[in-house]
Amino acid sequence: PLSLVWFRNDLRLADHRALAAAARQGPLVAVHLRALPHWRRHGHGANQLDFRARGLAALKEGLEGLNIPLLHRDIDDFAEAPDALLALARETGAEALHFNHEYPLDEVRRDRAVVEAFDAAGLAATGHHDAVAFAPGELLTGKGDYYGVFTPFARAWHRRLTPERLALSDTPAPQAPLPIASDPLPELPEGEEAPIDGRQWPAGEGPAADRLERFLRFRGRHYAAQRDLPAIRGTSELSPYLALGMISHRQCLQAVLAENDGRLAEGDAGLTAWVNELVWREFYRHVAFGFPRVCRHRAFQAHTEALAWRDDEAGFAAWCEGRTGYPIVDAAMRQLVATGWMHNRLRMITAMFLSKHLLIDWRRGEAFFLRHLVDGEFCANNGGWQWAASTGTDAAPYFRIFNPTTQSTRFDPDGRFIAEWLPELAGLPAKARHAPPRDLASGIDYPPPIVDHRAARQRALDAFKALARD
Ligand code: FAD
Repeated sequence: PLSLVWFRNDLRLADHRALAAAARQGPLVAVHLRALPHWRRHGHGANQLDFRARGLAALKEGLEGLNIPLLHRDIDDFAEAPDALLALARETGAEALHFNHEYPLDEVRRDRAVVEAFDAAGLAATGHHDAVAFAPGELLTGKGDYYGVFTPFARAWHRRLTPERLALSDTPAPQAPLPIASDPLPELPEGEEAPIDGRQWPAGEGPAADRLERFLRFRGRHYAAQRDLPAIRGTSELSPYLALGMISHRQCLQAVLAENDGRLAEGDAGLTAWVNELVWREFYRHVAFGFPRVCRHRAFQAHTEALAWRDDEAGFAAWCEGRTGYPIVDAAMRQLVATGWMHNRLRMITAMFLSKHLLIDWRRGEAFFLRHLVDGEFCANNGGWQWAASTGTDAAPYFRIFNPTTQSTRFDPDGRFIAEWLPELAGLPAKARHAPPRDLASGIDYPPPIVDHRAARQRALDAFKALARD
């Protein structure tokens, strides 16, 4: 019997649980639903839509090599997915549908509705756990709750891991050609924003695999020492590929196992630190599923809902545009807007600056990030923002507020990153770039700090202290 494989954020052929399962049962047809209005309403911006479109084109080419046609439909809303997929099943004569699970609330609801609709039509729709080693619910605390703290989650993850969980799925062999032609992929309509130059992020499995290989060959073993230095390309820059599934976390972890004598938790300090980040990625997926309130714009820590965030349009605009007068913050925001990516250390610094120094609701920053990030992914983005705002899991204690200037001297000691993104400050001595003294900066088109660190810090402390704990 013919099966449909529904591709979503898993735009690859290699190590794809749903694709491999369908191929074991017989011939298959690939389907893709593009929900542009829905994605836009949920805040995904032009950069990721463009990367996704290019990734889909690469996938289509790969599918054609296997004689698997790719059918494409546009829908306005996730609610239309069941009907669109049933119609595709009828058109092709398919009797089954396979897909890989996604864990944010809207996606879970969409997929449940699809399974029910197929069930009612006498067809089988099967979800596979692909993007995580453990399905949400498989790792729980001793009390049977979802983990709200990372470290015990990570310990349980390592303890319970078995080789099968990381076993790669086979890429299907070419099938006999079907009398079904692929649909042409539509162009992206002109949006309000033009995407960044896509050459920075070549899409598809090939470029993703190259990146992984280069990272492990040249940088993996230095990761622990270099991962916090934004002036150095010390991290993998694989996040867009992992977010849209052009590479799987298993492929990443298998590559580490091969480099690190078959170990993940021990051995080379750089490689094990990198593995830990992949566990963070999985943790936040479990959090989104286990605490679905975070998918409804709610704080993980309920008592922080009452926090008196400030309305400050001018402050928000200065942050977005990289004009806060704190060079490390401004350089980071310019990196985000220009490249669709920001270094992790800087995501923490800028998120904390918005939510603490400006005391602006973290949800506004979360939305701005999602609009620009090529790797924009609900679980990690929400988790990162709530962490920085001290409303989330592992709550950074609210009184630990990064001093942006201290962070800058620590993690960009030579001011190289600042000089790259704020050329107006490149002429200053390196040490002066972190907080340009007014006498040196007077001839330079760069604003003074929009808030005083100590006063802003106190204002945030007062706002958090005013919260009643529940
Ligand atoms: P590496 O350091 O090479 O890490 C390898 C992979 O591990 C990453 O590609 C990513 O998939 C995963 N990872 C790393 N750090 C984290 C983390 N803290 N949480 C979850 N997964 C992680 N990551 C996203 O993929 N999408 C987002 O939308 C996103 N938004 C963030 C917002 C804030 C405020 C913060 C603090 C972090 C956010 N992150 C997000 C996590 C992290 O910053 C990025 O994954 C990382 O910077 C990507 O660069 P890399 O691929 O070189 O990472």
